[in-house]
Amino acid sequence: MLIEAGGDPSFLSTIPMASLGLLGSSLDWQYKTIPNNISCLSSIGEQCRFSRGKSLGGTTAINHMLYIRGNRYDYDRMNISGWTWKDLEPYFLRYEGLQILDQYPASSRKYHNSNGTMKLEYFDDPRNPWHMRTVEGLKQLNIPYNKDLNGEYQIGVTKVAGYVYKGERMSTARGYLARNDVKKNLKVAKNAFCTEVVIDDDNIARGVTVVQNLQKVTIYARIEIILSAGAIGTPQILMQSGVGPADHLQEMGISVRSNLPVGNDMSDHQLPVVIVKVDHGGIVDSLVGLTSKAPQVLQYLASRSGPLASNSLQDIVTLINTNCYDFDLRQYSGNSSRCELADMQIIQSYIDKGLVALAKPLVKQAIGFNDQVLDQIEKANENHGLIVFSPMVLQPYSRGTVRLASIDPLQPPAIFANYLGDERDVEQMVKSITFLEHLMKTQIFKKHKASILHLNLPGCPAYKCGRVEYWRCYARHMTYSGYHAVGTCALTRVVDEQLRVYGVKNLRVADLSVLKNIIRGNTASVSIAIGERIVDFLTEEDNP
Ligand SMILES: Cc1cc2nc3c(=O)[nH]c(=O)nc-3n(C[C@H](O)[C@H](O)[C@H](O)COP(=O)(O)OP(=O)(O)OC[C@H]3O[C@@H](n4cnc5c(N)ncnc54)[C@H](O)[C@@H]3O)c2cc1C
Repeated sequence: MLIEAGGDPSFLSTIPMASLGLLGSSLDWQYKTIPNNISCLSSIGEQCRFSRGKSLGGTTAINHMLYIRGNRYDYDRMNISGWTWKDLEPYFLRYEGLQILDQYPASSRKYHNSNGTMKLEYFDDPRNPWHMRTVEGLKQLNIPYNKDLNGEYQIGVTKVAGYVYKGERMSTARGYLARNDVKKNLKVAKNAFCTEVVIDDDNIARGVTVVQNLQKVTIYARIEIILSAGAIGTPQILMQSGVGPADHLQEMGISVRSNLPVGNDMSDHQLPVVIVKVDHGGIVDSLVGLTSKAPQVLQYLASRSGPLASNSLQDIVTLINTNCYDFDLRQYSGNSSRCELADMQIIQSYIDKGLVALAKPLVKQAIGFNDQVLDQIEKANENHGLIVFSPMVLQPYSRGTVRLASIDPLQPPAIFANYLGDERDVEQMVKSITFLEHLMKTQIFKKHKASILHLNLPGCPAYKCGRVEYWRCYARHMTYSGYHAVGTCALTRVVDEQLRVYGVKNLRVADLSVLKNIIRGNTASVSIAIGERIVDFLTEEDNP
């Protein structure tokens, strides 16, 4: 039986273009981070948004749908038997249903599969000229065009494949729950909030308690229990069940079943949101734009195609190792093997002129910046299109923790994300912003009067008084989560190589909480591979 706290994903969640509108909606757990006074300073209450999907399909029902699997080295360096790239690659391939393989170079073929459950395609054309302009600007900085960032090399700029199929989001609910074998064998309990695992006196997991329709029910398992509540939900349920750091559990009045570092060492991509003003030549302005959207809506409803089936500008992804970018020459020279390991990933989206004013409540709900910042963005958007760049720190040093905030399991947990807790992450952000400044100086960006918005931020020096100091301070204000948290129930610390929780029988975890290191890429890819991986652990044990 699958137990899910949310219900079915909404129609809106199937429309690729609508993904931003899902953040802060009822499909989102709407978590926020606990302030650490050194990051997220321009978010409301100095708390970064920490969105997670709350419906069948989990976070794949609200995410941005980019398909990047990370670098092979990310898996090898975990140095865990059964979890190297060689061990995991078959599971990535098993679920991959890449429909555009014929558009990839021949050298890519061996890295892909077209027949898996999760269908992947290119997003439809956003009809936004900034797609090609961005590629051209990056080319001027010598960033290679790489058709397949999941193939032989991971560096470069690409038009990225996405979890979209026939113009609709390909969430794991759409992929897996539609399979006949799954439909036949799986019972699904929706809107059922799991509050704890029932563990008997011999430390054997027997079942789970759930709250559904205000009723508390215990569901017993015939064989075993697998927690897949994600990097926040899983540690919360474990701690409520007495599995976690003994001192914390005792402090909360919970008797300890297994003393484990649950909730520790959370790693997440983090980024400074960088806003670029551009002329809006070639793109309709917003009022005209909104009225001209009616045919786009009709086109989408009729054929699931057109701009609504696009991911706006976000179908471009850039991965580079900033150590291989010459900041004096303004040229990338990634020709050594150490350059193959990216430390920055850039994604971006485009906002039509005037759109922030028209959709301010939605923007506020989705992004969570305070009014002081939003007002400045709105003003810049009065006469300019905006490109919002998100240069992610791919290998952050800062680590966070998840703890219970209350003994009441229905209350959200305390997420100490601790972004920028390590100064090296700030320096990496400054490097990324400097790279973007160079991008603004390329011919094509200059031609369209592109410039980075220097927000006026309390406590930050003026930009002209000290560029680097300004950007350091900026990074601490405009911090944003990459929404890729991992590691809160890590392999070999909380679970063994077969994902069994130490000290409790018949209990496993299969989600991103088990991933020991964060990957150089977007994490849905790994969470699905972990799901495929556990299938073999279970079936191999059934048939020794
Ligand atoms: C805004 C956003 C954009 C993103 N963009 C991308 C992207 O473009 N590409 C990419 O690869 N990754 C992206 N990600 C990250 C990726 O989607 C997640 O890392 C991944 O889906 C997490 O998988 P998971 O199985 O660990 O957890 P989840 O997908 O979060 O699944 C956990 C499930 O457990 C349920 N649950 C939790 N607690 C309970 C409970 N107590 N009782 C019952 N059910 C419970 C939840 O409702 C959810 O359905 C994005 C994430 C976000 C938030």
